Amino acid sequence: KNFEDFGFNKQVLSAIADAGYQQPTPIQQKAIPPILNGQDVLGIAQTGTGKTAAYVLPIIMKLKYAQGNDIRSLIVAPTRELAMQIDENVKKYATYTDLRSYVIYGGLGPKTQIENLGKGLDILIATPGRFMDLYLDGHINTKKLQVLVLDEADKMMDMGFMPQINKILEVVPRKRQNMLFSATMSERVEKLAENFLLWPTKIEV
Ligand code: AMP
Repeated sequence: KNFEDFGFNKQVLSAIADAGYQQPTPIQQKAIPPILNGQDVLGIAQTGTGKTAAYVLPIIMKLKYAQGNDIRSLIVAPTRELAMQIDENVKKYATYTDLRSYVIYGGLGPKTQIENLGKGLDILIATPGRFMDLYLDGHINTKKLQVLVLDEADKMMDMGFMPQINKILEVVPRKRQNMLFSATMSERVEKLAENFLLWPTKIEV
C-alpha cells in the first residue's frame, strides 16, 4: 500500500511528501489502517522502524483541526529526549493543519510549561512524572481526551514509571482509543496491555 491508499487527507499527504517518505514502513503498513479505524493497537517495534509516524499520522488525521483548549490526544514517553523527538515529529506532520502540540518533561522548573499549557493545545507529549505533577496541580484537563499512546512502554516500566502510568490510566476518560508501543514483548508488557487495551490489534515487526 501507498500512503494515498490509507485515505489520508491532503494536509497529512503534503507533510509526508515534504518528509520525503516514498513508502510506508512495515509497522506503518500494519498499524495505520486499524488506528484510523479507531481500534486499540499493541505494536512491538523498535526505534528506527517508523513507529512514531505510524501513530502520529493517524492522530493528526483524526483530530483534523484545532479545537478548544483541552488536550484530545496524549502521548506518554519515558525520557525527555524521546518526548522532544515525538513533539518535533508531531509539529512536522501537522505543518499543514492548525493543530497545536506541546511537550512537558521533568528536570526543569514547570513555570514555562504551565504557561504554555494554559494557551490551549490538541496534542500533549509528556513524561509520566511531569504529566501527573501538572495534572494534580490542575494545569491539564483530560475530559476531552480521545487518544492515549504509551510509547516505549517496556522502557517506562524499566525506569519505574508503572505507578505514574497506572495513575494516568485512572484520570483519563474510560471511552478512548489506546495504543501501546514497546520494543520488546514480555510478561509485564502483556499484563499492561491486558489492563490498558480493549480488543487490540497486535502488530509485530
Ligand atoms: P522512528 O522509528 O519513529 O524513530 O523513525 C525512524 C526514522 O524513520 C525517522 O527519522 C523518520 O523520519 C523516518 N521515517 C518514518 N517513516 C518513514 C517512511 N515511510 N519512509 C522513510 N523514512 C521514514
